[in-house]
Order: sequence, then C-alpha cells, then structure tokens
Amino acid sequence: MNTDHHVVVLGAGYTGMFAAIRLAHRTRRTGVRITLVNPSARFTERLRMHQVAAGQELAVHRIPDLVAGTGITFVQGTATAIDPDARTVTLDDGTRLDYDTLVYALGSATDTSRVPGADTHAHTLNGPRAATRFAEALMGLAAGDTVTVCGGGLTGVEAAAEIAEARPDLAVTLISTTEPGAMMGEKARAYLHRSLRRLGVTVLAGQRIAKVLPDAVELANGDLVPSAACLWTAGVAVAPLARESGIAVDERGLVVVDAALRSVSHPEVHAIGDAAAVRLAWGEVHGTCQSGLPTAQHTADTIARLVRGEQARPFRFGYFHQPVSLGRRDAVIQFTRADETPVRAYLKGRLAVLYKEVVSGSPLKTYRLSKRLNVTTVVSKGGRATRTA
Ligand SMILES: Cc1cc2nc3c(=O)[nH]c(=O)nc-3n(C[C@H](O)[C@H](O)[C@H](O)COP(=O)(O)OP(=O)(O)OC[C@H]3O[C@@H](n4cnc5c(N)ncnc54)[C@H](O)[C@@H]3O)c2cc1C
Repeated sequence: MNTDHHVVVLGAGYTGMFAAIRLAHRTRRTGVRITLVNPSARFTERLRMHQVAAGQELAVHRIPDLVAGTGITFVQGTATAIDPDARTVTLDDGTRLDYDTLVYALGSATDTSRVPGADTHAHTLNGPRAATRFAEALMGLAAGDTVTVCGGGLTGVEAAAEIAEARPDLAVTLISTTEPGAMMGEKARAYLHRSLRRLGVTVLAGQRIAKVLPDAVELANGDLVPSAACLWTAGVAVAPLARESGIAVDERGLVVVDAALRSVSHPEVHAIGDAAAVRLAWGEVHGTCQSGLPTAQHTADTIARLVRGEQARPFRFGYFHQPVSLGRRDAVIQFTRADETPVRAYLKGRLAVLYKEVVSGSPLKTYRLSKRLNVTTVVSKGGRATRTA
C-alpha cells in the first residue's frame, strides 16, 4: 500500500520522539511522511534534570542523530499556532507545515505562577538551561548557606537528595504541603525519610508556601525559611497552544482525548504524554514517562492502523512502579497496582540504584531499538479495569 499522508509530531521530548520513531518503523513501506518539530536540536533527558541541577554533566544526545536512518524530517522550531480546520501548524520563524495527522506532544513545565515571587526568585528544572543556572547559583554559595527545595513530590525529593549529596556543606530544606513519599507504602516511605535524614535534608512537611523572597521562603504561618537559592518543583502547567488553537482542553489546558487518545474536538489530532488528559477506568493518568511512553506507542500504532484503513483501538495502561533516586548512591522503588496504589514489594539501596538507572536510560535505548523492532514500553495494561468487552 502506498499513500501520501503527512504526520507532524510537535515536541521531541520523551513521547514525541518515541511516537515518531515507532511510527516511521511501522509505516516504512507505506509512503507516510513524518516531520518532527522541537525548539532545540538537543534531546532533553528530563528524568535527569535534578542531576544537572546538582552540577553533573549529561551526555549530549542530538535529535538528528537519534532519528537518523528513519526517514523522519527534523525541523528545529517552536510551534506558535495550530489551525485545526486548515490542518496547518505555524512555527516561530513563519514556516507553515500542512498535516493530515498531528501528534501533540508538548509536555509540561513546572508552574511558578501559583505563589508570588516563585517566577522571579526561584529556579526550576524546566530544561537544561534552567537546571544549569541553578547549578551555577549553587557554585556561588558558601558552606552553611541554606538551599530550599519547594515541593515534596518525587521530583522535589530527588532534587533535594541530589543537591545534599553533591554539596554536604550546604543546608538543604525540603518544603512540602504533603508528606514526601506519601503515595508510597509504609516501608518504602520510611526508607525514603531515613535516606533524606542521612543526607542531612531537613523536611518541613505540612507547610504551605505563601511567598518566595530573594533570600527566604515565607510560609503561610508567617515563618521565614532562609534561602540563599530556591528550587521550585511544585505543580505543573502546560503550554496554552492547544487552548489558543480551539482544540478541546480541560481546565488545566490538557488536550481532552477519546479512548484511542484522539482529540475529542479534532480526531486527526492525537495527544500524548504530559499534554494529554487521559482517563482510564481506574482513574486519571498523570504525567510520567512511565505512562507517557505507552501513550506514544499506542498513538504510533493507531496512526499506522488508520493509514491502513483499520479501526483505532482503546488505550490500556496501568502503573507498575514509582522509582525514586536518592542521590547517586541510593534509591527506593515502590511497586504499585495499576492505579498507582502501593503493593508490599519495594527495592532499596544498591539494587534500587541499578533499577532506577535502567529506567532512566531505557527511553534512549528504546528509540535505538525501535528503528528496527516494535519494542513495547507497556509493562501493565491495567488488568480487568481497562479491558473492554
Ligand atoms: C526532574 C524530573 C524527574 C522526573 N522523573 C521521572 C521519573 O523518574 N519517572 C517518570 O516516569 N517521570 C519522571 N518525570 C516526568 C517526565 O519527565 C515527564 O512525564 C515526561 O518528560 C513527559 O514526556 P513528554 O514527551 O510529554 O514531555 P517532554 O519530555 O517534556 O517533551 C516535550 C517536548 O516538547 C517541546 N516543546 C514544547 N513546546 C513546544 C512548541 N511550542 N513547539 C515544539 N516543541 C515544543 C519541548 O521542548 C520538549 O522537547 C520527571 C520530571 C522531572 C522534571
């Protein structure tokens, strides 16, 4: 079968990259053209941004090298507008791309808009530049200075541990409304807290942040936590592009999709990763690589099916684990049910470090293999809850 079908993939992060490469392999004999758009030619390993923030240098992976030999056209640019009726995307340099199918994979970023001062006085892990700026700020600090990490989700925990391990001379304070590791089982959570204590991280849990000041974080109870450098990791926000383009989004701006991950307002638009609002029978999928790569896999397979004239199938997924690094020498992995509630099994220490490293390195290995094979990233399909009749 030969067709002239143009697929534009917006965003070459973890999910857009996988969707493009897998689709290229699945449609290699059909004449489908794929264009992948990303602002930077360097692939960002977001899973490792806390390592950059702590001063580590990562290997450089260039997108043109990652897609070499697949037939994918890489365009360096930022999408500034989508006209879903005309089926065109406009880039920041004025380039217009026509598409038959669009894959929306713009990801998410840390939301610094919720608390005054966070956007001006706090650093983020929003990409290598931001993480490097924080690392440079750390270099300028003297022994005994306090670093605050705001947000006790897994990203905040990983960042606090990484900084404390790299700079034991600094006082690292993790500030969180909830208890760090709250979603883990009792034993894994206790291990996580022991590890943070060993690294010298002070945890202020149950604290709402009112304001970020140039040299302190002000809590809702009026207390001031000294802060020579502040890293903000709490909350996520998505790009307004889909909303501005008239594509149906939810109250957070995530693209609302049907069971096959197609936009409910524009079925030729497929949304994946952090930018998609995916609901399954057991609940809502939240932005992780663990769930994002399966959405990319499903979308590549769906587009290949549709191009062949076949029906789309519903997306099925269940969570499997919560891997958390605690510096370079420690980690804890909580295994979970499909809905992400913890089971008894967990890993800690050296074995967990090895496990976490395999997880963090697996997307790049998956891309390389996916040029030649249909590699699956789905560990759990969600069991009975996601099975349809
Ligand atoms: C420090 C940290 C640690 C994490 N650890 C884990 C973990 O251990 N396990 C886990 O499962 N998840 C983890 N996550 C979450 C995970 O990184 C995200 O869920 C994942 O990156 C989502 O993939 P994505 O493709 O949707 O978005 P991204 O990987 O963010 O990719 C989006 C891409 O779109 C590009 N883009 C944005 N706007 C435009 C535009 N207008 N035009 C064109 N391109 C655009 C961006 O530049 C980027 O390349 C972590 C996140 C952080 C920050």
